[in-house]
Formats: sequence, C-alpha cells, structure tokens
Amino acid sequence: MRRHRVRPGTKVDLGDIDPAETGRYEDEDAAREHLGRDVERLAALQEVLYAEHRHAVLIVLQGMDTAGKDGTIKHVFSAVNPSGCEVAPFKVPTEEEADHDFLWRAHRFAPRRGHMTIFNRSHYEDVLVPFVHRLQPRDVIRRRYDQINAFERILIENGTVVLKFFLHVSKDEQCARLQARLDDPTKQWKFSLKDVEERKLWPRYQKAYECLLGHCSTRRAPWHVIPANHKWYRNLAVADILVETIRALDCKYPRPELSAAERKRIRL
Ligand code: AMP
Ligand code: MG
Repeated sequence: MRRHRVRPGTKVDLGDIDPAETGRYEDEDAAREHLGRDVERLAALQEVLYAEHRHAVLIVLQGMDTAGKDGTIKHVFSAVNPSGCEVAPFKVPTEEEADHDFLWRAHRFAPRRGHMTIFNRSHYEDVLVPFVHRLQPRDVIRRRYDQINAFERILIENGTVVLKFFLHVSKDEQCARLQARLDDPTKQWKFSLKDVEERKLWPRYQKAYECLLGHCSTRRAPWHVIPANHKWYRNLAVADILVETIRALDCKYPRPELSAAERKRIRL
C-alpha cells in the first residue's frame, strides 16, 4: 500500500493514477479476509493507543463529492471503540469560524492524547475552494500551503500522527454515484444541487488537488492518493495504511500501579 503515498516534493498528475486500480486483489472476495483482519487490528491498536495516552492520530479525508469519505469512516472504523474516536466534519465555515484564521477550527478539533480524530474534509478546503473559485490570489494560497505544513509540524512535534488520504474517483464513477442519489430513496437525502455545479469544475478541482498534494505531502505528514472507484479497495487501502502506521508507534499498556507482589496480596 506504500505506493499510494505521495513522495514529498513530487509533482502529482492525477491523470496518471487509475482510480479503478485494486492492487494485487482481483475482486472483493479476495480482499475480504484482509480487510476484516485490518479492521480488527485497527480496533486493537486503538485500545492500546488510548491506554498508553501518549500519542494521538489525525486522519484527514478529502475527495470530490461522492468519493466515499462517509463510507470510509463507516467501514474502516466500524470496530473502533467510539469513546476514543471523534469525527469532525468541515462544512462551509460558520460566521465565527470565518472570523478567525483558517487553521483555528482545525486546531480546535485536533485529537487529544490517546484519541483518533477523523477530519471529514479539513483545513485543506481552504486551499481547495479558493483555488477552484478564484476567491484568493495564488500567492495567498501558496502561503497557506506553507502555513498548513507548519501547523501539521506543530501537531506532529507534540505527539500527533498525521495521515492524509485523497479518495480518488473518476468523473464517470461520480456520475454513477450522483445518479444513484437521484434514484435511490435511501440516498436521495444526500443529493445536493451544489454537487452538480461543482462537478462542472472537475478539471479545476483536479488541478487544485494536484497542487496541494505536491506542496503538502511531507515525510511525517504524508498524503496518499487512494484509488476509490471500488469501495472495498478504498477501505482496504486506508485501513492497511492506518494499521501499519499506528503499529509502528509501538504503543504499550501503562505499567500497573501495583507490583506483582502487591497485586497478589490484594484480597477482594
Ligand atoms: P458535505 O461534505 O457534502 O457535507 O459538504 C460540505 C461543503 O462545505 C462542501 O461543499 C465543501 O466544499 C464546503 N466547505 C467545507 N469547508 C469549506 C471552506 N473552508 N470554505 C468553503 N467551503 C467549504
Ligand atoms: Mg455532499
């Protein structure tokens, strides 16, 4: 799964990355066991992360409308204890949020020690929307890339692991998913006319993503471009990268308060 990582300083061409790729797996059946194992492992790792109370994990999910941000949260974290896991959705900034610097709300929702927080959209919307809609001059956006890198460095140097995933779907796949939102009564609530408007700006969105991926994938806060046309592969790739990264933290259960001898003497 390492190949999905964007190497720092490289120029990203999303046109070169196949959104329908599924690695060494032919179909969902072949990947089911692996995904099940990863989901369980993630839950076990989260428990030690929580118990140790030393690190935090920030997971950033970005992608075009319908790319599967909600689906990824629902599936990959299905076994995780909700007590130690928060989801922060980033909508159009409220008046209070817009009155602050753009990183204010991201910092407020950053994970506390021992916790995992998933950003469903993130501070990256602030280099995406202004780019696509030409709301800010390019040098302001360029400066924001640097500010984001500095912000993420602050989190990292204070014990937070930062992992970022761009869920990469094709324009055709988005069309099919939007159509399903029009046709399927259980999905109609998700349909927004705004998505149709934004879809017209597809090439500018892709360009905006290529720029931010190129500027903000760092060694310690890497971006991953996840082929997401196949939901099962998307889930597997995200889960696998999370497991590998959190495992490398080598979290340990805290030492018990009492020694073995003291514990033996306790009569209940
Ligand atoms: P959804 O994820 O479908 O609930 O939609 C959230 C909407 O909020 C998307 O259209 C985002 O582009 C928009 N949004 C989130 N953050 C920002 C931001 N910082 N500036 C402008 N729009 C944003
Ligand atoms: Mg939406």
